[in-house]
Amino acid sequence: MIRKLAVTLVAFFAASIACSDTTFVSCTPQQENVIEFAYSQAFSRAKDSEIRVGNTPSYVRWFGTWTQTREDLVKEKLSAIIANALISTPEFRCRTATHPACVGNRYAAVDLGTSFEVEICPRFFGQVAGGDRTGVLIHEIAHFRMGANAGVDKCYGAVGPNNCLDLATTDPDAAVNSPDNYRLFIGNR
Ligand SMILES: [Zn+2]
Repeated sequence: MIRKLAVTLVAFFAASIACSDTTFVSCTPQQENVIEFAYSQAFSRAKDSEIRVGNTPSYVRWFGTWTQTREDLVKEKLSAIIANALISTPEFRCRTATHPACVGNRYAAVDLGTSFEVEICPRFFGQVAGGDRTGVLIHEIAHFRMGANAGVDKCYGAVGPNNCLDLATTDPDAAVNSPDNYRLFIGNR
């Protein structure tokens, strides 16, 4: 009986070790390390930004004129980003530059309406304009349907420094549903 239990336990541990491999698809060991390191910073960075939610200069910069309703929405979405960064283990798929997910010179992508599957483009491993790789992953987490579910992109900070600043000024309701505004707010840019 004891021997049978031991065999079962060995099988269980072997299965859990095999499982951790499925977190990456088509990535080299070096790419896996780069992604893993960037992702490991996401939780603490998002958590540290919580204190700036409210009528603060940082909030107003990225989410526009303060209202209680919008603050509540930002709190809700930020909590979802923090929770996902802490407990979710997305599947990271390393794609080639010609893969449909990587067209338009993207760093990474998540299909709208999905969660936990992140397409990583070759550009992710180079210099990230106006940010860093952890920020890119925070942007993608903001897309997760089972989470912040921030919807379609309304601006990209990488297009130009004012792209998402302008959105916050002209359309705060869009800014509080814009993945890149969460990235920039969390990054305290
Ligand atoms: Zn996006």
